[in-house]
Amino acid sequence: MNSKTADDLPKLTPIIHPWVNRCLRQKKLINRALRIYGSPINIHNTIPFEENVRKFKSIFEKYGLKHRIYFARKANKCISFPKAAYTMGEAIDTASLRELSQCLSLGIPGRKIITTAAVKNQKLLKTAVNDSVPIVVDNDDECLLIQSIGEETGLEIPVIIRVSHFVQNGEKLYSRFGFPVDHIADWIRMNLGENQKYNKLSYRGLHFHLNGYSFEHRAIALCRCLDAIKQLKAYGFETKSLDMGGGFLVNYLLHKYQWDSFFTELKSALLGKRSQITFANDGLGYRVYKGNIIGEPNVYPFYNELNKEKVLEAILTYQCNGGSPLWKRISDSQVELRIEPGRSLLDQAGITIARVCFRKKDTEDNLLIGVEMNRTQLRSSSADFLLDPIHIPIEKTSSHPSSGYLVGAYCLEQELILKRKISFSTLPKVGDWIVFPNTAGYMMHFYESEAHLFELATNLFYKENDLVKDGS
Ligand SMILES: *Cc1c(COP(=O)(O)O)cnc(C)c1O
Repeated sequence: MNSKTADDLPKLTPIIHPWVNRCLRQKKLINRALRIYGSPINIHNTIPFEENVRKFKSIFEKYGLKHRIYFARKANKCISFPKAAYTMGEAIDTASLRELSQCLSLGIPGRKIITTAAVKNQKLLKTAVNDSVPIVVDNDDECLLIQSIGEETGLEIPVIIRVSHFVQNGEKLYSRFGFPVDHIADWIRMNLGENQKYNKLSYRGLHFHLNGYSFEHRAIALCRCLDAIKQLKAYGFETKSLDMGGGFLVNYLLHKYQWDSFFTELKSALLGKRSQITFANDGLGYRVYKGNIIGEPNVYPFYNELNKEKVLEAILTYQCNGGSPLWKRISDSQVELRIEPGRSLLDQAGITIARVCFRKKDTEDNLLIGVEMNRTQLRSSSADFLLDPIHIPIEKTSSHPSSGYLVGAYCLEQELILKRKISFSTLPKVGDWIVFPNTAGYMMHFYESEAHLFELATNLFYKENDLVKDGS
């Protein structure tokens, strides 16, 4: 149970898929890629993606549910993943005009795509309408614009209505998205029928995507939607699909005890009871107030026993108010159940590798390891990416263990790749690699920027013992 290193820093050992180990043994191949494309590079593999799709499918099949998986491609920019989803018979959730156009130009038919973009301009809507891509509508102004396109083209436009305003224990779950679920059946009857204001919009189904990761919130939302679907049926509106969005938790870490002990050590460092484990004693959301720790960690929950398809199963077996389990109610309603996983389909599907450029000390005598990358290339809404990176020396070394901070290329004092202090079994040397595992979902792409005119990292795929560019 050694959860600490020699210099007493808590470890957070990541889960590593076998393809990563196979790939990392190909030193010449990776060195060549770093030489050609520069540092960092993102290396992907579609095998874990396909495994993840199958895991979700196995649960739908276990409960005999009509279903479809829409891969939320905004979590990663590579075109190879939507392609893999389509090849497996599944579909794609697009969140922008370019995400949509790229999928269409691959030859993916409109009926295997939806668009949930948070902002939908006329160009996006027209593209969707042209290829019969169902549009997930979020507000009245969108409906007006879609109606005008319908009048102009004479087409009936398939729409799915996004709902929210769900309540748990008397409290409304905040959302900027969606129409109030309580009135949705009446709203649809009053607006979407024949001779109504939005008569060019053809109702197909309901949709929600909730913030956070609570399976209970999702179950409660499904129950409310099923009530609305019943009411809609009485009004003569048939619901073909019910979409519960994404937000399925991923487990990144091997050991629960390491996850727990990390926070124990972090709090103890904040209270000055041990040496710092984060840069400038950053609390990652915790603060000290009058000698006590307050606040909550502002980080993704990287350790999760209930993850991916297990979350889906927990939702489907949930009973609202002691009634039948959700899977039974969904099955009886005959709607197609849809999910839109982003992060969870990308679990284990990509890594980021950067080259070490320098070692130095800062004014506080901290060891800094400079890597050729910047912090936007490993960044999500989580305050830190709480997985140990892997140090790969390019040649055998005999130097002693060391610990320090990984710093990047933007000219800011706060330019840390990871806020955690990292321990290395040998001191990294110039030219060594630092590998960040499991970065495909959001980490590598979501916030990447080109400040200082640095080019974005190249996206490669590890295929048949070779590294090829995305899309090739
Ligand atoms: C972001 C998003 C998703 C994907 O969420 P994950 O947490 O990556 O599973 C799905 N649907 C919608 C509408 C989204 O905005």
